[in-house]
Amino acid sequence: MDFTYSDEQKLIRETAREFAEGEILPQVKENDRAERFDRELARKLGEIGFLGAPVAEEYGGRGLDYVSYGLIAEEIGRADSSARTVVSVVTSLVAGPIEKWGSEEQKQRWLPRLCSGEGLGCFGLTEPDTGSDAANLRTRATKTDGGWSISGQKMWISLGNHSEVALIFAQTDPEKQHRGLAAFLVPTKSEGFSSQEIHGKMGLHGSDTAELTLDSVRVDDDALMGEVGDGFKIAMSALDSGRYSVAAGCVGICQGSLDASVAYAKQREQFGRPLASFQLVQDKLSRMVGEITAMQLLCLRLSELAGDERLTPGMASLAKYSPSSRFSGSPRASMYNFRLAAASGVITAMLVTDSMFMIDLLSQRTDGKAHASGGQTVDRAAGSAFAWAETRGAVPTGERHLWCEGRQCDFGMPVSLIDGIRRFS
Ligand SMILES: Cc1cc2nc3c(=O)[nH]c(=O)nc-3n(C[C@H](O)[C@H](O)[C@H](O)COP(=O)(O)OP(=O)(O)OC[C@H]3O[C@@H](n4cnc5c(N)ncnc54)[C@H](O)[C@@H]3O)c2cc1C
Repeated sequence: MDFTYSDEQKLIRETAREFAEGEILPQVKENDRAERFDRELARKLGEIGFLGAPVAEEYGGRGLDYVSYGLIAEEIGRADSSARTVVSVVTSLVAGPIEKWGSEEQKQRWLPRLCSGEGLGCFGLTEPDTGSDAANLRTRATKTDGGWSISGQKMWISLGNHSEVALIFAQTDPEKQHRGLAAFLVPTKSEGFSSQEIHGKMGLHGSDTAELTLDSVRVDDDALMGEVGDGFKIAMSALDSGRYSVAAGCVGICQGSLDASVAYAKQREQFGRPLASFQLVQDKLSRMVGEITAMQLLCLRLSELAGDERLTPGMASLAKYSPSSRFSGSPRASMYNFRLAAASGVITAMLVTDSMFMIDLLSQRTDGKAHASGGQTVDRAAGSAFAWAETRGAVPTGERHLWCEGRQCDFGMPVSLIDGIRRFS
């Protein structure tokens, strides 16, 4: 494998960094504090070609390779994980599946709008009672004359309040379990379709999260993507690509954390010297560089596999697992950041690495516990982050909620960011 970026890839990276610094960073704190989804930013992401970047040009994409897609996710993630969520969801979870599994008509109808950012799309798999066990969806699709009637609820759906199309996974025949699942491209203006905002997340505040309700939503036959029974493999292949982009986004978060740590270590003085002049601090920064480099190499390997359509669910999970936890990229890099910043780290870390920290907390909550099950949809990321935390006494073994003591959050579990930070620092 060639580890050198091509001139085009370097240019894409530079463009993405410039875009992130010019268009994302100035608003990121305000959007985050206000829990505001920046629809205009999503449009700009489309205009510059960062939504659906690997999609073929004839459908409005840029026809880029997976290395380039990863670099975009990395640079956008470095500035703001909420903005990176838009890139990942639209590209990997909606446009990608449509390009791979959709009919020509579906591609023509949806892809140009998704890639340009004029219309957003969301991925409706998770339900209030069904997460990792995706084969057991309760949303039902019933055949009608010339179409389908879909009823059910979807939970934690990113971009769900701002999308014009929802890729909805529904069961057509419960006895067939995962073989009965089907994927539908449902226009969100359909009668019976409604969405509700979910607020109070621990992080990713600028990312739109929705609960969707489908009350006998009628769609025509041409809304079905692929065949009845293809739903499960469509969902799984989309998640593989999504995990890759999340992994790349985590690399960006860690890079952002490193950049902030270096800047702080150079600027802050103790005992008449900048922090950066102390060997112990240099050691911490060097370790961050090492871990980030390892993450980047893993993502490069993943991009090669994805480009050749050889990305397996195991490898995709590894991709998300390693950058976000095993190398302890997010937690460890952020914790170095916290430690370097000491008392002000609580604030600094929240400003600089908030998203990273939150992603870890969220993924531990949402995906980590399922790690033990070894289920197919499991993101191993989080389970291992817990293990990592446990080895450091941050979370008593088996008491996975304990590090989030404090106020009640939307997950119905107690949460306190400050507590979490204190435990780690
Ligand atoms: C910010 C955010 C954005 C999201 N965006 C989307 C999106 O766009 N689209 C979408 O479809 N989903 C989305 N999700 C949902 C996410 O993908 C799910 O959280 C994930 O699939 C896990 O589901 P769950 O959280 O319901 O937990 P589950 O996996 O259902 O786990 C629930 C509980 O059951 C336990 N458990 C699960 N399996 C086993 C087992 N085999 N043995 C023992 N215990 C088990 C777990 O430990 C946990 O305690 C998002 C979530 C978040 C937080």
